[in-house]
Amino acid sequence: MALPSYKDIVELLKKGATVEAQEQIMALREGAIALQEENFGLREKVKSLEEALRTKGQLTFDGASYWLMEGNSKEGPFCQHCYDMSGKLVRLQDWGDSWMCFACKNLPDKKAR
Ligand SMILES: [Zn+2]
Repeated sequence: MALPSYKDIVELLKKGATVEAQEQIMALREGAIALQEENFGLREKVKSLEEALRTKGQLTFDGASYWLMEGNSKEGPFCQHCYDMSGKLVRLQDWGDSWMCFACKNLPDKKAR
């Protein structure tokens, strides 16, 4: 979207074309609001990408499931299938000899605790 320029608006005012100038000012305001909304959306996107990237950096794979390492603490396990497909960390449930993902019914081996 091309926004009206300040210079054009000044020219219009110099010519006494106040109605046209006013229209251009309105267009400029609308453009500013649209840019603000776009900026907000982009900020939200950057935030979620940063979070996803940080999570990815903290994940380890034990050959069957993911674990989230935060300092010295270890969270998990989480479903490898769900994370690889959707980027979502789905906690696995204890299912006797294996883990169980309630989301995709995956039954990964218990490699670690
Ligand atoms: Zn799953």
